[in-house]
Amino acid sequence: MLIDTHCHLDFAEFEAERDDIIARAHAAGVKQMVTISTRVRRLETLLAIAEKYPSVFCSVGTHPNNAGEELEIQTDDLVRLANSHEKIVAIGEAGLDYFYDTQTPADQKTGLLRHIAAARQTGLPLVIHSRSADEDMAEVLKAESGKGSFPFILHCFSSGAELARVGVELGGYVSFSGILTFPKSEDIREIAKTVPLDRLLVETDAPFLAPKRWRGKRNEPSYVVNTAEFLAEVHGLSYAEMAEITTENAFRCFSKMPRL
Ligand SMILES: [Zn+2]
Ligand SMILES: [Zn+2]
Repeated sequence: MLIDTHCHLDFAEFEAERDDIIARAHAAGVKQMVTISTRVRRLETLLAIAEKYPSVFCSVGTHPNNAGEELEIQTDDLVRLANSHEKIVAIGEAGLDYFYDTQTPADQKTGLLRHIAAARQTGLPLVIHSRSADEDMAEVLKAESGKGSFPFILHCFSSGAELARVGVELGGYVSFSGILTFPKSEDIREIAKTVPLDRLLVETDAPFLAPKRWRGKRNEPSYVVNTAEFLAEVHGLSYAEMAEITTENAFRCFSKMPRL
């Protein structure tokens, strides 16, 4: 089996056929998935999906590209919400995204620090979104881990080798998406090779970034199989071995998520 550790099932793209998408995921062996929050104010929508489907869990947090819209959300709010429901198994996604400049770096960092504090207090993993921000992210992770460790995931990894190294050194997980399968992603595959087996996760980030076999199509959780196949090849393992490794890692990392 596999776990899609990062998808966005609340997005409008999935509205009309969510039942089918989840059925296809199960048929492909993707037995559990985590739908990731991009706005705290949409939490009710996420929870409604997680309550409807036993195999779907969710997070709570504000995406860096929305950071300025939810600056009123404090660490205490994130902690209270995270503890309010058994299906909330992670904090985030939060982080730094300097590729899109819709939100100021200062607002993004304010949000990120609150999410880190919430992860530290709850023990739930922080789902980190980092894009074109390697140096600042590495600096924040080192400084904040020094104040007290917190579990985290570098999600949809597309950064440089140094950020991966820092993340692993600080005890984090590195999650690979369909980007790993793209012909031009030789550098990402090289980095994936350096990540210890017990820190690897797979995700789709659906509806974005469909892996090679379905490139250009809308992504969905069942497609995470293709990313796991590539990751197995990178590490010289069989698909079954990599599926088992990433699934065990997911249950260790998302420690609040039960095995169904
Ligand atoms: Zn992201
Ligand atoms: Zn995402």
